[in-house]
Amino acid sequence: MQTLRKTRIVATIGPASNQPEVLEKLILAGVDVFRVNLSHGTHPDHAQAIHNIRAVSAKLDLPVGILADLCGPKIRVGKFPEGGIDIRPGEIVTITTRDVEGGPGLIVSQYRDLHRDMKPGDRILFDDGLMEAKVIDVQGQDLRIRVEYGGRLKNGKGMNLPGSRLSVAALTDKDREDAKFAVKHGVDYIALSFVRRPEDIEALRELITEEGATTPIIAKIEKPEALERIDAIVDSADGLMVARGDLGVELPLERVPIVQRDLVLRARAQSKPVIVATQMLESMIQNPRPTRAEVSDATTAVIMGTDAVMLSAETAVGLYPVQAVEMLHRIAVEAEQWQKSLPQSPDPVLHGAQKSLLRLAVARATMQLARDLNVGAVVVRSQGGRSARVVSSTRPLAPVLALTTSIETVRRLRLHRGVVPCLVGPEEFNQPRPAARELTRRLGLAAPGEYILLLAGFGREEPTLTAMPV
Ligand code: ATP
Ligand code: MG
Ligand code: MG
Repeated sequence: MQTLRKTRIVATIGPASNQPEVLEKLILAGVDVFRVNLSHGTHPDHAQAIHNIRAVSAKLDLPVGILADLCGPKIRVGKFPEGGIDIRPGEIVTITTRDVEGGPGLIVSQYRDLHRDMKPGDRILFDDGLMEAKVIDVQGQDLRIRVEYGGRLKNGKGMNLPGSRLSVAALTDKDREDAKFAVKHGVDYIALSFVRRPEDIEALRELITEEGATTPIIAKIEKPEALERIDAIVDSADGLMVARGDLGVELPLERVPIVQRDLVLRARAQSKPVIVATQMLESMIQNPRPTRAEVSDATTAVIMGTDAVMLSAETAVGLYPVQAVEMLHRIAVEAEQWQKSLPQSPDPVLHGAQKSLLRLAVARATMQLARDLNVGAVVVRSQGGRSARVVSSTRPLAPVLALTTSIETVRRLRLHRGVVPCLVGPEEFNQPRPAARELTRRLGLAAPGEYILLLAGFGREEPTLTAMPV
């Protein structure tokens, strides 16, 4: 059996990883949640990928979560017949909103109002800021730009227009169609890109409800406007993603690590899951081993206490998708073991209070007791997952075994740090003591005579916390 890892791994699906054989290897290497990025590929592709994930996961009897990521009002370049073009410093290139095909010297904008929103002197960045150009002039639907930093610009890469506030709606027509698609295919989370205000989340929530679902929403934080309203956004979302790709273009790059730390703490203070994303092991798109700096970055995210770290192009289009997941697994296990060896948790105190004060207070007491008694596991009865989430957010040293009779809860809980979701029958759920003993023994978490904690009635009834020997 693999060493139990607390930090979760999210892996983006793409051409390098959507085949059943690769998916199987990825799950066995430790992927907890797969991300289907609706910015790329077609609905039939995504439907096939979702089907493959569910089939492989059923075959292995290892439930995994699926997160569907909506594009949001991201501005992207269109397609090039060759798959991409080279743009060189000093070169003058045209960006058009006309319905034509791109090619050398001609970039098509998927965003049709670009020519209305831009003026001479404005900056345009491509591919998470890798390339940069300045607008010379706008003639009808064509913008002439001068390239400052060049490179290979590939199909569908993002364009950022720092400073300009665009007229695009938060939930585009495409997002609505994509969200309906995601709900129809029973995904476990839906992420919304470029969230600016809590209303953006509410709009998506309304749509999900109309579709008859309760899919939790992850707000991708990548706009300075979102930081201005962050408390309200954390309140209305079910989780956060630190979307460092666009965040690093929209904000000065050196702010990103500080914002990341702040967002991780804010999410945890509200017992909501947080994912640190983009360029985790970027060099592994091409190489079998990451750079020292990347390893250090992933370690930092784990020590900050993030719920999950995410791979993007590494697993979507990279040459070493399985190795990238194995690497993240090793990094997380190493950092967590070091954390566990410290005399006191290096974890900063959570700021902010929650609405459910009793629940949080019991969860904190549980965390402390788990440390003092050095228990092998904290077992929590958690039908809908809420109790397990709150306990997880206090980051106890022992794993949190969450008992539920709902497979949906099992899959959703795969995103939460330290939670081992366990599907049980109604009898075990109602009489959890024997199940708690059995599961902790089977997972090798506690030897006979050692203690575990059992937390129950944590929702509506009175909470009971029991320390019992296995
Ligand atoms: P986002 O801003 O939502 O993260 P992104 O364009 O950065 O969007 P990622 O999922 O982060 O997309 O993946 C990084 C890169 O990997 C993409 O820019 C794209 O070139 C490639 N990629 C990802 N998914 C796919 C896919 N399904 N098909 C083709 N290329 C993909
Ligand atoms: Mg990205
Ligand atoms: Mg992004």
